[in-house]
Amino acid sequence: MRAFNAAANWLVGKAFAMRTANKIALQRLHYADLRGHFGLSAQMAVRCIAQVCQAYKRDKTKRPHFRPFAAMPYDQRLMSFKGPDRVSLLTLGGRILMPVVMGRYQKERFSPAIGQCDVVRRRDGKWFLLVTVDLPEGTRTSASDFIGVDLGVANIATTSDGQIATGDAIEDCRRRYASARRSLQKAAAARKRQGQRPKSIRRKLCSLAGREARFRKHENHCISKRLVAIAKGTGRGIALEDLQGIRSRIRLRRPQRARVHGWSFRQLRQFVSYKAAMAGVEVRPVDPRDTSRTCNCCGAIDKANRRTQAEFRCRRCGHAAHADINAALNIRAKALVNGPQVSERHAGLQSAV
Ligand SMILES: [Zn+2]
Repeated sequence: MRAFNAAANWLVGKAFAMRTANKIALQRLHYADLRGHFGLSAQMAVRCIAQVCQAYKRDKTKRPHFRPFAAMPYDQRLMSFKGPDRVSLLTLGGRILMPVVMGRYQKERFSPAIGQCDVVRRRDGKWFLLVTVDLPEGTRTSASDFIGVDLGVANIATTSDGQIATGDAIEDCRRRYASARRSLQKAAAARKRQGQRPKSIRRKLCSLAGREARFRKHENHCISKRLVAIAKGTGRGIALEDLQGIRSRIRLRRPQRARVHGWSFRQLRQFVSYKAAMAGVEVRPVDPRDTSRTCNCCGAIDKANRRTQAEFRCRRCGHAAHADINAALNIRAKALVNGPQVSERHAGLQSAV
């Protein structure tokens, strides 16, 4: 892994200087160096070139850097599964047979037909093999009705049916970990003043961050699973606001919250999308504009309609509702009005069927 990333880091400098992401050109010029100088195997050199091109293409204005333990791609020529609990990995010292541990969920979905894998070394020194598997998508039925889902901070997800997944558990968890973090940081500072290196405290801080992220992930899995199950069970699709809208709409008080919620939202949406695809449930994105300030009864749009975080009362018709449920109903209404956003090719296929 060190050799691979050292090679990638060197090669990406060359690619950046030459302003090229052309694999063939890079291979012609530097393949021999990757083999001779860095000692990579033939296939590792090929993967290294591909990895470098990808990193350079992502943002051509900045020179990418590869950390010594950045994830290393392993394809079918570099690895192979020997049964469900052992994997053979090519290293600079030849092939090694490594025992692997898989969770039950992963085991059920594991198939030998896998895509590219990444070998990852976590900061605590544990090694992971991230395996990509292709799962068949459910046959997607075009939905004629939708569950509108409003995503928020106080309530993570609210449906147009009136179900609310509150953010209380997550907020509790965030607070608990934030205070644990503060006291650990204090302890670390005290140790530093005494001239000691607070290494064990650092490790604890690190594991705290991991635990909080896993808790959120678990919550997001549960919420998205429930949403998709309801949609599937009632033969409806799921309507969500477009991501850009969510980011600009929610006003956040502290930058830390913004960061946390940013990825947490993206994750929830990703989970909804892939679980929906597996179940054959349509997800329809809608324009997020005014969903929270429009009256679902009469259509009046007024910022003052939303009195507090939780309360909606229409200034024109007097309609009162839970603010997030009102928003979810608006999202559903938008999805019903918007035609399905499919390409012509796709539409042609559907009509042919
Ligand atoms: Zn109204």
